[in-house]
Amino acid sequence: MGMLDTLLDIQSHDTTTDQVRHRRATLPEREELASLRDEIARLDGQCATLINRRDELTAQERAFAEESAPLEVRAKNDEAKLYSGEIASPRELQALQADVEQLRRHQRGVEDRQLGLMEQREGTESELAEIDEKRADVVKRAEALAAALGEAEAICDEEMAAEEKARAALASELADGLLDDYEQARKRAGGIGAARLVGDTCQGCHLSLPATEVVRLRKQTDDVAPFCDNCGCILVPS
Ligand SMILES: [Zn+2]
Repeated sequence: MGMLDTLLDIQSHDTTTDQVRHRRATLPEREELASLRDEIARLDGQCATLINRRDELTAQERAFAEESAPLEVRAKNDEAKLYSGEIASPRELQALQADVEQLRRHQRGVEDRQLGLMEQREGTESELAEIDEKRADVVKRAEALAAALGEAEAICDEEMAAEEKARAALASELADGLLDDYEQARKRAGGIGAARLVGDTCQGCHLSLPATEVVRLRKQTDDVAPFCDNCGCILVPS
């Protein structure tokens, strides 16, 4: 096998490596994983808002509980006095009775508001539990996807390593300079450094070469690299 044919084999390995690298860079799992991570971040934001709201409601609830406790004590004391028999004056009794009623009304008002807050807090807590559950589900899916992505990447890495190993073995057979010419041609021609000349057509760019040029190329010896005038790749006559 001539050196130029070896170059075609190298090109074939390089093309495969490029394809695998592209496949690795565009694995669908990666994009899906990114969108799941966005979803987790969004749910985290919702959780933080709900936790803030719950804590605020808890604090307000506690404030109302603290307001109602002394009202209860005062009402009880007044009721005890009312029924103790210590007070004989009907007017005083009536006034005390009115005080007790006023205290109890105040207490009920405070407790109603406390109850309203408790209901809101419980609603917030169940919303929070729902989001926690949703988040756990997304986290589970993200973990499975991350594992699948890792596996797919590892398969690509193995394939590329095998291609590169085979390529290195072939490259060691090439004359100095030819590989450099190939690498430069590959850069110029967007990945194609060497292509077969079939008839008068370069298989790199699929354009025809002038007949005189084809004749000249076919006469050339193997150790001179002929380039395609159109795409710049090294032509390997068949
Ligand atoms: Zn060409």
